[in-house]
Amino acid sequence: MEPEILERINRGILLRTGAYLTNDHFVLPSGRHAKEYVEKALATTEPAFTEGLGDVIAKHFAEQPIDLVLTTGYGASLLGHCIARAHPSQPRFVYAIKQRDNGGTSQVSLPREFRQYFAGTPRVLIVEDILTTGETVKGLIDLVKSLSGRVVGIGTLWRRSQRIKFKFPLFTLIDREFPTYAPKDCPMCRKGIPINREYLSEPPPKHSRRRAVGAH
Ligand SMILES: [Zn+2]
Repeated sequence: MEPEILERINRGILLRTGAYLTNDHFVLPSGRHAKEYVEKALATTEPAFTEGLGDVIAKHFAEQPIDLVLTTGYGASLLGHCIARAHPSQPRFVYAIKQRDNGGTSQVSLPREFRQYFAGTPRVLIVEDILTTGETVKGLIDLVKSLSGRVVGIGTLWRRSQRIKFKFPLFTLIDREFPTYAPKDCPMCRKGIPINREYLSEPPPKHSRRRAVGAH
């Protein structure tokens, strides 16, 4: 099937889960306006869809033997589980913990219990749900390298910018960067379309939740 058609079908599936919203008027965390929005948390709320998406990604990497599927985060872990379940090598599924260091940089680390699975240079498939900056996946790649594992590839639902690139094969179901506008240039503002307040991005509060979590 044409990749373009396939991508449209995949977008339709995400639309069905409510994770992908379109034909509306959103304010992104950057302050820019957009007609489309991805609510990442909703992408994995329907198990049958998550399994279906996992099957497609597993099929793409089916020819390559994989020992481990590695993820971080709740949504990516649900997807990672489905991919591991569907892959013919019957890889084990493990996850890393994402934390912020004192400088605010995101770091990933492997729970001690999973270290045993990195003995003997395992072949690792890294899985992420939505690639926004690619920083998390880069952290996972470094983690695999630091544990002498071998990255086979990266599987993801959506790459939000083609500027996100890795040295390893990337397979994404959706490869779409939707246009965003400065408020003064926004065509939806010009047409007087009200902003969708349900998904309005508020500036982070002074004592952000993230910092409160880090303080514990
Ligand atoms: Zn606008």
